[in-house]
Amino acid sequence: MATLLLLPGDGIGPEVCAQVRRVAQVLTPELTIEEKPYGGTSYDQHGTPLTDETRDAALAADAVLMGAVGGPQWANAPRHLRPEAGLLGLRKAMQVFANLRPAYCFDALADASSLKRDRVAGLDIMFVRELTGGVYFGEPRGIEDLGNGQKRGVDTQVYTTGEIERVARVAFELARGRSNRVASAEKSNVMESGLLWRQVVTALHAAEYADVELEHILADNCAMQLVRAPKQFDVIVTDNLFGDILSDAAAMLTGSLGMLPSAALGAPGKPGLYEPIHGSAPDIAGQGVANPLAAILSFEMALRWSLGQTAKADRLLAAVKAALDGGARTKDLGGFLTTHAMGDAVIARL
Ligand code: NAD
Repeated sequence: MATLLLLPGDGIGPEVCAQVRRVAQVLTPELTIEEKPYGGTSYDQHGTPLTDETRDAALAADAVLMGAVGGPQWANAPRHLRPEAGLLGLRKAMQVFANLRPAYCFDALADASSLKRDRVAGLDIMFVRELTGGVYFGEPRGIEDLGNGQKRGVDTQVYTTGEIERVARVAFELARGRSNRVASAEKSNVMESGLLWRQVVTALHAAEYADVELEHILADNCAMQLVRAPKQFDVIVTDNLFGDILSDAAAMLTGSLGMLPSAALGAPGKPGLYEPIHGSAPDIAGQGVANPLAAILSFEMALRWSLGQTAKADRLLAAVKAALDGGARTKDLGGFLTTHAMGDAVIARL
């Protein structure tokens, strides 16, 4: 029997996770759901944002779904004990190197996009961002005093063959279940790591994925194309830094922060980490008005990518679509439904 570990966390995290639990009870009653403290809540209870017990439970689960962490009340906690440190610690412990971020436009919300409806209606892009390497982790890094009133800041962009191959493989595999197209974005024209990226993706494609259509695109052109004609893309694979920026831009073409899920995957057979993209929203926490759809759609991704329940994932996605088509809107979408009522709207369509 599969186990889902819920880490509700802080702020609106517990509010949106409560709706995931309700949806799961209807859709997947056979799923065992565990819950552990995490983030600021865990810091208050146990003096650390990520206890060994929570980490071990995450590694033992089939999938982990977190709400959100953080809030002003922990702003003065030591940096290594802040709620966000728990998030990075969990990603590291779970070795989740591929960040999947869909940019999917629900038809009912196409008019809310910053682009014209015809540019985004039907949009369905999957970003695969490398999550544990590149310039955010490369050494050397730091700020050095040059002693002449000047300082020097250094970051290192670095990738190995293995790091590129494993994330590209995730992208090719995903593409096979979609429209079979991958765009690989880098800056091979000006960066050595970008050139290696292109070479490794090309070689892997030729050796194992020749049936998938592969396009190499420079990351700056990719940014331009995403706002010009985003529907030309299916799966986009890219490094940590470019993925951070490009996936944020693409995701926001499609709706509110309260709608956007994500997944972080590691090696096959290891648990994935699923989370809404939004934070703990302290400004609306406790009011029962947060949009639970990002968390519910994160559960949809968990069903699809970790729990082997594709048919149930399809059912859940269809229920969310039907709820939106029927006019269900929380405050962030211009409506008046409470968090619980939006949960009801989805459950009614299951
Ligand atoms: P935020 O995403 O929490 O909120 C930004 C704005 O969007 C707010 O006005 C909020 O009310 C609104 N919003 C967010 N989610 C919503 C939802 N589901 N429904 C309706 N409205 C929603 O970002 P922030 O305010 O910059 O950060 C607040 C805290 O969250 C900080 O402590 C930050 O560090 C943390 N944070 C955590 C994560 C995470 O857990 N992965 C991600 C981002 C921010």
